Parts: sequence; structure tokens; C-alpha cells
Amino acid sequence: MDNTVQNMYIGGRWHSAVSGKTRDIINPFNGKVIAEVAEGDREDAQIAVLAARQAFDSKIWSDLPAVERGRLLYTLGDRIEAESEVLARLESLDTGKTMAESRWDMADIAGIFRYYAGLADKDGGEIINSPIPNSDSRAVREPVGVCGQISPWNYPLLQAAWKMAPALAAGCTVVMKPSEITPLTTLKIAEIAAEMDFPAGVINVVLGPGASVGAELAENTMVDLISFTGGIETGKSIMRAASTNVKKIALELGGKNPNIIFADCGDLDVALDRALDGVFFHAGQICSAGSRLMLEASIHDRFVEKLKSRMAKIRLGDGLVDGTQMGPLISAQHLAKVENYMRVAEADGAHLELGGRRPEAADLQDGFFFLPTLFTGCHHDMRIVQEEVFGPVITVEKFTGEDEAVRLANGTIYGLAAGFWTSDPGRIQRVARQLQFGTVWINDFNVYFTQAPWGGYKQSGLGRELGRQGLEEYTEIKHIFQNHNPEPSGWFGL
Ligand code: NAD
Repeated sequence: MDNTVQNMYIGGRWHSAVSGKTRDIINPFNGKVIAEVAEGDREDAQIAVLAARQAFDSKIWSDLPAVERGRLLYTLGDRIEAESEVLARLESLDTGKTMAESRWDMADIAGIFRYYAGLADKDGGEIINSPIPNSDSRAVREPVGVCGQISPWNYPLLQAAWKMAPALAAGCTVVMKPSEITPLTTLKIAEIAAEMDFPAGVINVVLGPGASVGAELAENTMVDLISFTGGIETGKSIMRAASTNVKKIALELGGKNPNIIFADCGDLDVALDRALDGVFFHAGQICSAGSRLMLEASIHDRFVEKLKSRMAKIRLGDGLVDGTQMGPLISAQHLAKVENYMRVAEADGAHLELGGRRPEAADLQDGFFFLPTLFTGCHHDMRIVQEEVFGPVITVEKFTGEDEAVRLANGTIYGLAAGFWTSDPGRIQRVARQLQFGTVWINDFNVYFTQAPWGGYKQSGLGRELGRQGLEEYTEIKHIFQNHNPEPSGWFGL
């Protein structure tokens, strides 16, 4: 471990916490301390918000020609690509995920900065055909202002990039707060940005707990927009806090995502293979994990047998070691939460087919590992089916026919993503339109890319990230009307 404390980046300078407190960052593979970072509090968040406010109000960023903002963001993407191996290693150390996954993340992240760099100067506004004679009307987009951005621990830098890149492209200034347990790659991005020509105060990174630093960003009346990715209960508290000054809100919350396999799915082994990816990447700690597997009755038994045998072969280990297929859970606390769901599921009558406990291998005992776990005999009203476990756990529900599949799949408070597998063209059209989810995959699972919008129906969130819509979240629309021939109306007499 490097013994220097890593500080917050505020107003173009590196700051220790006002309180002087620090926090140890832990490698979930072995419980060892990998870094020490400043542990901010409300006061630190206030200092960062003020820096972002002053930078925004000075117009040093929003008045910079959009093509110049784009140029800087594009270069940031290039710098991320150049440092991608360092960043990927840091992400794997901090989260436990495999290097292959972290490398994908970094390639994506570089692309996200480049994508929004390219969009920064593309909006030409909209001319409206004014219904009033001798007048002009147009709608223009302007940056919202100061953006508080709060990211989770499962995809620390990817989620930060989804927020920072469009906000900066739009001309906003940002105060980013990464999860207190996985801040290292976000700090590294601040370090890269600090070496570039971003004006001071445009990019700020504060560290510390959600309950103080995150809540301050949500409440602070100098913040114009709060963008949050994380759990549903935190999202609700942020909505309440944001009411102080009626902030704009963007929420990416949890999911409990059905993966429906119809008997006419075509190649069962392909559907099975993608179902495994859909759940066990990053040990199931993915908001869009296909943890609700729904199998048509006629293929249920065959599919479950094959699934069990594939799951039993998943290789757990250190994400930094080649050949590891699944890393640990993020923390001891999260492991305890996942373990508790085993009792909940069994009490509700789900049948444990595989896993359900920590592995026994000696080299995994210091990490927060949990075995790939399969429950069959699950019903739609069980807690294990309705609640987000956020671990390597699949529940299997059996259904008969399309109507039942759609009804069961939609029977959730969440609406992030759903997938279904079929070779019937008519069914493809019907089911895709009936599923109430922000993303629907047909004959695939867990595919997302920068160009397409991402976000949830129902309680999975508000607003969209990625795509053109992800940029629009960070803009206000202004209608500008000009009368070319003003005359008195005479309403109140002349
Ligand atoms: P979390 O809600 O505990 O924390 C997320 C972030 O919010 C952290 O930075 C945390 O410090 C902060 N926070 C906590 N309490 C806060 C408060 N009162 N006010 C302001 N900020 C606060 O979530 P997590 O455990 O880090 O992440 C897992 C959750 O994130 C899962 O529910 C998952 O589904 C969700 N997630 C959603 C998406 C998506 O795109 N929809 C993507 C990734 C993760």
C-alpha cells in the first residue's frame, strides 16, 4: 500500500478533509488495506459546491465554445485509454471484479467521454414556427448549472463517467461523490483532469459517507441538479432532500430483472450461456443482473440441470489473476446481506439447488466470497424474487404461455431491464411492447452501449443516462420569443 493519503479534488486543488479524518480502502479479495483516503464531511461538500458554483457563475466553462469543451473531453477519453491498464487494475483491486471486466469498463469509459465530446457542439436548437405574425420563436438548450453526482460501488468509474461526461459536455460544473468504499479510480480521473486544461472548479471530487457528504449535495441549495445511482431507499431520501430548492433529479436505482426463456428460444445452450453472463458477471452485483430466470414449463427441468452443471464450474478467485471468472462481493456487510437472503428464501419455500453458502477453498477465506447459488420452485410473491439481492443468486420461476410470462415479469416495483428468448417473430413484437422496463433485450441479455438511453420504468428511477437523452438531462430548455413589430395591445386603454 502507498502510505500517502489520497485527498479530495476541489476548486483545482487537492484538499484533506476539514476534520482531518481518513478512511482505509479495502481489497474485497483478501480484506487488506490498499489505500488511505480523506474522509470528507458536510463542510467539505459545502466547500466543493461553492467552488463549482463560482466556476459555473463565472461562465468560464459554459461560455467556452462547445467545440473546445468537446476537445478537452475527447483528450480526457484519450488519457483514460492511455492509462486504462492502471485504471483497470485499480478498479479490480477496489471492487474485486476480474481484470477482463475492468478492462471492458475502461474501454467503455474512454468511449463515453469521446461520445459526449462529439455531442457537445451538435445541438443547433430548434426553430419554432411562431403562430404570432412578425415574430420569431426558438428553443435553445442551456446547461442546468452545478451538478451534484453520486455514484455506487459496483461500477465506480463507469457510473461516474455516465454522469460526468454529459454534464461537462453540456457546460455544467460537477461535484462528484464516489461511493466511500470505492473512490480510487474516480480520484485517478481527477488526477488526470488536474493535469489538463479544465478550469478550476469545473470538476470537483469529494469523498465521504452518503449520509453526510451525499445528503449535503442533495440538500444544498447551490446545487441545481442531483444525479444519483444507487439503492432505491437512498434514492427516495435524495428525492426528499432535493425538494429544498426543487432541484432537477436524475435517479438510476435498482432492478430485479426477469430473463424469460420461451420453449421456442432456438438454441437452448446459447440462452443458457447468456443467462449465466447475465447474473454472474461481477458476482451478480449489477443493477441489470438477470437474477429472475423465468423458464417455460416444457424446458424447465432440462434447463435447470444444464444450468447447475455450468454454475458448479464457475471459477472463483482473485480478480487480478488470469482465469478467475468471478470475484468476491464488495464487503463483509454486503456478504452478510446476501447470506441473510438464503434464510429468507428457504423460509418462503424456495428450493436451494446449488450454493447458498460461502466457498470452502482455503485461499478464499479472507475475501467476501459467496458461491453461485440457484433456487428453484420460486414464486412471484417470494421476497427472494421481488427484492434485489445484488449477489450471485438466481431464482427460477416456471411459467406456461406468453400471457403468464408477461404478467409475472411485470409484477415488480422495479422496471430497469428485462430479456426474453424466442424465435417467434409475432411474439417478439408483442412481448417487447408489453414488458414495462426501460430496456428490453430480445435473444440477448445485459447489453448496453453508450449510444442508447439507459434508465428505469417505475421505481427503478427517473430520467435517462447515456445516449442523446443522457446529455439532455443536463440541460434546461429555454423558449426565446422575439416580436419584430411591437404594438400596444390596448387592453387597459391607451
Ligand atoms: P447506496 O444507495 O447505498 O449508495 C450509493 C451512493 O449513494 C454512495 O455513494 C453512497 O455513499 C451514497 N449515499 C448513501 N446514502 C446517501 C444519502 N442519504 N444521501 C445521499 N447519498 C447517499 O447504493 P450502493 O450499495 O452503493 O449501490 C448498489 C445499488 O445501486 C443497487 O441497488 C443497484 O441496483 C444500484 N445501481 C443502479 C444502477 C442503474 O443504472 N440503475 C447502476 C448501478 C447500481
